[in-house]
Amino acid sequence: MSTGTASLPILDSEALAPAVSKRRLPLLDQLLADQGDMSAVERFSQLHDDATTPLLEPIYRSLLPATAPGPGQQYAFEVNLDACSGCKACVTACHSLNGLDESETWRAVGVLHGGDITQPFQQTVTTACHHCLEPACMKGCPVGAYEKNPETGIVRHLDDQCIGCQYCMFTCAYDVPQYNPKKGIVRKCDMCSDRLAEGEAPACVQACPTHAISIKLVDVNEARAVASEGSLVPGAPSSSISVPTTRYVGTRVMPANTLPADFHAVRPAHIHTPLVWMLVLTQLSVGAFWVGSIFEGVLSAEALAAVRPWHGLLALSLGLLALGASTAHLGRPQYAFRAMLGVRTSWLSREILTFGAFAGAAVTYAAALFQADRASVWSALPQLPVWSEAALPVLAPAVALTGASGVYCSVMLYHATRRRWWHGYATGFKFALTSVVLGLAFSSAAAIVVLASTHTDPLPLLRPWLRFAAPALAVVTCVKLLGELSVIRHRRDPGGDLGRSARLLLGELRGLLGLRAGLALFGGVVLPLVFFGAPEGVPLGALVTVALSSASLLLAGELVERVLFFAAMSAPRMPGVVS
Ligand code: SF4
Ligand code: SF4
Repeated sequence: MSTGTASLPILDSEALAPAVSKRRLPLLDQLLADQGDMSAVERFSQLHDDATTPLLEPIYRSLLPATAPGPGQQYAFEVNLDACSGCKACVTACHSLNGLDESETWRAVGVLHGGDITQPFQQTVTTACHHCLEPACMKGCPVGAYEKNPETGIVRHLDDQCIGCQYCMFTCAYDVPQYNPKKGIVRKCDMCSDRLAEGEAPACVQACPTHAISIKLVDVNEARAVASEGSLVPGAPSSSISVPTTRYVGTRVMPANTLPADFHAVRPAHIHTPLVWMLVLTQLSVGAFWVGSIFEGVLSAEALAAVRPWHGLLALSLGLLALGASTAHLGRPQYAFRAMLGVRTSWLSREILTFGAFAGAAVTYAAALFQADRASVWSALPQLPVWSEAALPVLAPAVALTGASGVYCSVMLYHATRRRWWHGYATGFKFALTSVVLGLAFSSAAAIVVLASTHTDPLPLLRPWLRFAAPALAVVTCVKLLGELSVIRHRRDPGGDLGRSARLLLGELRGLLGLRAGLALFGGVVLPLVFFGAPEGVPLGALVTVALSSASLLLAGELVERVLFFAAMSAPRMPGVVS
């Protein structure tokens, strides 16, 4: 019987022989010889190195155009809907080849539903960037972080240039750009342009087991004509927004009632907290400066001299705070200085420019007010060259005008996204009346606090202002609230964009809507009318408390209104799935 150890190769003299001969080699040669003994990875790599063309080329060659785009042409995705099984191999290949983070997806697969119980219809739809002819992402970007290649038509995102403002996520109707919080920038599909340049297929094209995705050359004029006719698939955004080039082809006839599976599934959108603060505070600051001009006509000279500088300082501080809050929305605030680059096409660049001018004018105006009224503020304030008094009539309209231009740019920034809930009329109405409501409330509070602290009996000085401001505040608050609530009349149109917003407001967001209405009514109607309108016999302390409470409640109400402005936004989108 042989022993177990005798059969082990390590003790076998024949097996030992080569090792003995190897030992005779110098160490370096031995290591080189070992290296020459190829591993599986090396053999795999060798296989590809030796091939004159990529090994999978015969498979994907038919999925790529034979030539580069000619004049009037560009590359585009074509999806054969008959072949798409919804397996998501394209999604995973894109994810892995582009090294995406867990939360990022540059390609997605959704579902269309239609038909009836006797003849149901279902179609899976793979979707990515549509490399549009008029890329809305590119137009909106304030720093020029998108480029459309003039030869291939591919729309690329320039990661290094991006400041992470996320505005392109609003302007692209297809939810294509994705924000990566770790990197502080957005990123998106570039049709694997590096691979295409080498004659290789994009990851999704190569990975699809049924060859449902291919790259085609499209005629630009033809794509424009097709885009004017509707949308890429039922329920998708109108193709007229950015003229997408992807083509969905198939032989199955879709029933007339075909819609994305998640068409009726409304969910609150992202809130963008820094933007909520920035919008409300800039509008408050602008409104306070507007109301400052009304002071001139209503307050007596004595009251004006006491109130004006502090009121100007308050309005300025809130404006500067708002501009500071806006940088919290940037993924890379250190590059915010680039935001002027897109001023020719981007409303965000224009908004930053006009609010920059507003801040400059407001600082100068506030300084001039302190100089002009230094006797009532602090008589020890040194007398600067006498420019302040003379400059006031120019500075006041300059501040009002640049502020109004800034608010207009804010309105256009949302209007340009072509989302109905953010249409210019509705948004302009909200933003302008936020300025008026908060301007009146904060200016009134400032006047009451300043006069209460500088005069023993300020009521005679305040009365003319309160008689004007209290009813004005109540009326404007009611008009604004009614305007906001008017969207509810669309609730019976569940398929329309405004119908979905109305359903959200009456459903998941109804608690916030109730809070918003309560804050506006109490802070803007009850308190001003009960106390401001009837100051006779009201203790001064109570008047101050009520003025500050009214302003605070109204500010809270406007912040909630702005949260709803973002959260209730619902627009057509490419098909998704019901989760
Ligand atoms: S689909 Fe969106 S991200 Fe892609 S090019 Fe069009 S607008 Fe830009
Ligand atoms: S800078 Fe803003 S708009 Fe431009 S790509 Fe980056 S996130 Fe999008």
